[in-house]
Amino acid sequence: MSKNTGYEEKLKKSGLKSTKSRKAILDILIKSNQPMAAEQIFIALKEENIDINLSTVYRTLESLENIDMVTKINIMDDDRMLFEYNMLGHRHYLICIGCKKILTIQNCPLGSYEKELENETNFAILGHKLYLYGYCSECQITQTNNK
Ligand SMILES: [Zn+2]
Ligand SMILES: [Zn+2]
Repeated sequence: MSKNTGYEEKLKKSGLKSTKSRKAILDILIKSNQPMAAEQIFIALKEENIDINLSTVYRTLESLENIDMVTKINIMDDDRMLFEYNMLGHRHYLICIGCKKILTIQNCPLGSYEKELENETNFAILGHKLYLYGYCSECQITQTNNK
């Protein structure tokens, strides 16, 4: 039941076949509308009764990253990678390093700055991404207790 969001065209152009696993993973990422860890994608696939094992999820994400359809976000100091569907546009996230919780920031703080930059540099700016890292209120408590 994959809706056509234009990504099949992109897959074709990049020379990758739109396999079941590629489509399923792209569908999940698009639906979630925020970055996900491979394990979360794996669980979401399971919930939709799509049978793809975790190593295939990793491999598929890698191939999609190679053609820039998926962006990998590295959360600072460890190997917890998050993946998101690579869309132009405005995306702002608050990411908790402790529990990987992600909040989407609705207000765009960069609108007027973009205009300034465009005037200064003659760029036609299409979008931006902003990731803010830190600890959520619950994880701040855990941090202090561990010290
Ligand atoms: Zn947290
Ligand atoms: Zn913005």
